[in-house]
Amino acid sequence: MSIQSINPYNYKINQELEPHSDQFMEAAVERAHDRFTTWKVESFKVRSDLFMSLAAVLKNKKAALAKLMTLEMGKLFSEAESEVEKCAWVCEYYAEHAEKFLADEKLKFEDGEAFVSFDPLGVALAVMPWNFPLWQVFRFAAPSIMAGNTALLKHASNVPLCALAIEEVFLEAGFPQGVFQTLLIGADKVQVLLEDDRVKAVSLTGSEKAGSMVAKTAGEQIKPVVLELGGSDAFVVLDDADIAKTARIAAQSRMINCGQSCIAAKRFIVVERIYDEFLEAFTAFMKTYELGDPMLSTTKCGPMAMSKFVDELEDQVQRSIRKGATPHLGGTRADIDGDFFQPTILTEVTKGMPAYDEEMFGPVAAVIKVKNEEEAIAVANDSRFGLGGSVWTEDKARGIEVARKIVTGAVYVNRMTASDPRLPFGGIGKSGFGRELSHYGIKEFVNAKTIVAN
Ligand code: NAP
Repeated sequence: MSIQSINPYNYKINQELEPHSDQFMEAAVERAHDRFTTWKVESFKVRSDLFMSLAAVLKNKKAALAKLMTLEMGKLFSEAESEVEKCAWVCEYYAEHAEKFLADEKLKFEDGEAFVSFDPLGVALAVMPWNFPLWQVFRFAAPSIMAGNTALLKHASNVPLCALAIEEVFLEAGFPQGVFQTLLIGADKVQVLLEDDRVKAVSLTGSEKAGSMVAKTAGEQIKPVVLELGGSDAFVVLDDADIAKTARIAAQSRMINCGQSCIAAKRFIVVERIYDEFLEAFTAFMKTYELGDPMLSTTKCGPMAMSKFVDELEDQVQRSIRKGATPHLGGTRADIDGDFFQPTILTEVTKGMPAYDEEMFGPVAAVIKVKNEEEAIAVANDSRFGLGGSVWTEDKARGIEVARKIVTGAVYVNRMTASDPRLPFGGIGKSGFGRELSHYGIKEFVNAKTIVAN
């Protein structure tokens, strides 16, 4: 069956592509495996120069790559441009720091010389989602490849043109054939790849379901795996927060990428003393997110990436309303062509509702009123996810104390949660395990090998 790249704004077919055959996949695995033998012994200087060149290619092609993302999954063109810049940044970041991060680590050992060397593993497989079609891939690829691994990408089926474009930019930057390759294959082929002895590790960013399937096979095959899965991040507003600023960033944090971000704020937990004031300000900001053509700079919210995501979100909202939530703003798909959902605020949200228990992957904010800080922390932690979160207070020290009590992979105080090459990124619980970015990320796909010499 052919793969269709469809524009969710107007349903036009961008392109129809043939999936790669089993023979193509086999040749790619062999090429990646072969290339590893020379790539792993390449100097950091050579790898680093190539990543600097890749960053330059990305910057040169910013508009074209950004347009591809917008056409395939509806992201605002302006957000897509920023995404390309961020990919260039992560390439530069690891080009500059990888050698230092992977330098031999001397150990205190009185009986001889002892150190750890960090060796690459081989072919690493990336199974990636559509929501940040370039960023998710680059944040895996830059550290893994700088560490000396070669990479295969199985991207989400709705962004095949982005997937192919990523391989092209690697080649244009001068990377040898086989260092980074895209495979246009279905999810069913991931198991085949993981059962292949030449594939040594896997990183998946996506849903709990896909994560658990991939981790199961990786476990059976005894291969390392990193899982970056869903989230239902808490946005905790304490009684001393700057309401105007907090409400503006709350809307921004919920509406980025049309709400389709793993670390978007999803549950807004607000103490009762400032609840009404916050809700009024938050609603005013949410109303400014006008829907429209994602290519236009005046549009603040584009379509969702696929029709089925609109259906799923509407179902979650309706089930929450049937269980007692109030649609304070929006609440349904938008009455216009394209895969649009209205910016929505649900209030009176309680445990047992999809808006409380599940990940809402679209422009829907669940607002939960709590008595005080203690209850805010309890509600923040009352989730099977544990990806990010934020705390809003004029008292930084208080914010840090609350952050310490929130059980997730990251908590930001008075700042919107965002990934950044310099900061470790990842979750606990059903949000996954392992870390990407920073020096933690580059150590996920290496063998920390102890060497003792007398
Ligand atoms: P998804 O359906 O899980 O797809 C992600 C990738 O996994 C795609 O390439 C998909 O391929 C593949 N896949 C699906 N089922 C699979 C299976 N059984 N075996 C092997 N591969 C499989 O997720 P999505 O809808 O693209 O992305 C949204 C989810 O990703 C949300 O839950 C979001 O929170 C999460 N996410 C997490 C992070 C993070 O860093 N923690 C970042 C971004 C997104 P096909 O497209 O061919 O099905």
